[in-house]
Amino acid sequence: MMVTALNSPMPQEVDVIVIGSGASGLAAAVTAAHAGLKVLVAEKTNVLGGTSAYSGGWLWIPFAPHAQGQNTGDNEADVTAYLQAVLGERYQKDMLSHYLAEAPKMLAFFEQHTAVKFLPGNAVPDFFGELSGAKNGWRSVVAAPYDARQLGQNLAWLRRPIYETTLWGMGIASGADMKHFLNSFRSVKSFYYVGKRLGQYGQDWLRHGRSQQLVNGNALVARLLESALRVNVRFLRNAQACAIEALQDGLSQTVRFQTPQGQVTVRARKAVVLAAGGFAHDKARQAQLFKHVKNGTPHHSAAPLSNTGDSLRLGEIRGGSVDDTQAAAGAWAPVSLVPQADGSWGRFPHLVERGKPGLIAVNAQGKRFTNESGPYHTFIQDMLAAIEPHQRAVAWLVCDHVFIRRYGLGAVKPFPLSLKPWLQNGYLKRANSLSEFGAPMWHRVHAI
Ligand SMILES: Cc1cc2nc3c(=O)[nH]c(=O)nc-3n(C[C@H](O)[C@H](O)[C@H](O)COP(=O)(O)OP(=O)(O)OC[C@H]3O[C@@H](n4cnc5c(N)ncnc54)[C@H](O)[C@@H]3O)c2cc1C
Repeated sequence: MMVTALNSPMPQEVDVIVIGSGASGLAAAVTAAHAGLKVLVAEKTNVLGGTSAYSGGWLWIPFAPHAQGQNTGDNEADVTAYLQAVLGERYQKDMLSHYLAEAPKMLAFFEQHTAVKFLPGNAVPDFFGELSGAKNGWRSVVAAPYDARQLGQNLAWLRRPIYETTLWGMGIASGADMKHFLNSFRSVKSFYYVGKRLGQYGQDWLRHGRSQQLVNGNALVARLLESALRVNVRFLRNAQACAIEALQDGLSQTVRFQTPQGQVTVRARKAVVLAAGGFAHDKARQAQLFKHVKNGTPHHSAAPLSNTGDSLRLGEIRGGSVDDTQAAAGAWAPVSLVPQADGSWGRFPHLVERGKPGLIAVNAQGKRFTNESGPYHTFIQDMLAAIEPHQRAVAWLVCDHVFIRRYGLGAVKPFPLSLKPWLQNGYLKRANSLSEFGAPMWHRVHAI
């Protein structure tokens, strides 16, 4: 099914204005429009999807509809025990009970009424597998791959995935898809599968300039976008919300947007949803809330540069305040800086490959500081905990030739793709022994 064109005229008044076009903003927009409301989604950049379009597209939701009727061996007591073990004294019974009850209903709503579909993560284990109540699968779902032809010309407005995490721009789905790529020279079946995928991508690229088989977070946003267009959600791109004002009726508000054509104001009769992402690139807020930034280590994030904490600022304008008592002010993950031809830096999020056998991570003092295959949040927590305040929060991933040819490392792809460009641009360092390295070794990872 083709959906209607995305470039619609700008309304002056709607029921709901959603600020930000990531998964949270689009999900709110689709839900409100399903309830019969007139909705406008405003996005600061010229593409839709935010960090969500870069993401893995995974959701941690126990008792998802996909798990119903399966022999998962899961139960409420185990889920609760797991959350209590992870959160300790921060476990909030009411909030989490509500989440566990409502999140599966949310999935069911999207599956039944929209183009958003999920696949079960039946073999995806909990992050903290050693804790009580942890399970080896069935507690996550991932956005199902999406045929981008459904979006027609509107595909042009979808943010592409982070180039370095793709193969020449083609997204690879976690799970079976990725397994085939890693085994392409070890199994005839995988070799054939990969050949077919590449052949299809070649055709897509020639016809459309990008892959038509979207996966992971890109598929999630594309599905939400199709769903939003189906229920006539309006979109305004290149529009940065910069002010919100409450009107005298006590319910409606106006939002002022900065656009390339100047400022425009739209009135929301019922609600304004702040969904402008995190503050990954807000230097002032970083310096306030991130200890490593206070201590002099620059912060690097894989989130789009447009995520500058505008939701927080706009919320503060309307009387909100930022809770700085959380266990951590960021959802940490290691990233490495990838040199680009134009002198800028790409950012590779090390979410998966560092957990394969044959790699260690060391800090600037040459010391291991974590279990490399642990969750990415823990990786950075341990990295930060292992340094003195005056030391830089950086680490190096060290592996041997067999590892990097088998699994790749960061932006470096496995065999048969060449290591040469990466050695030439300095992303990789190679030596015959550890002592030959000196520092820096291989490539550095930072926090996101
Ligand atoms: C590589 C990677 C993989 C990840 N994988 C997962 C995963 O598998 N599962 C998971 O749960 N989480 C994952 N995450 C985290 C997850 O992607 C984010 O938490 C989530 O996408 C945030 O969604 P959001 O809608 O709040 O914000 P975003 O998706 O970042 O969207 C915010 C949008 O608001 C726009 N905006 C900003 N300011 C304004 C303004 N003033 N006016 C208008 N628009 C504005 C931004 O340009 C952006 O498009 C991952 C993150 C990364 C980087």
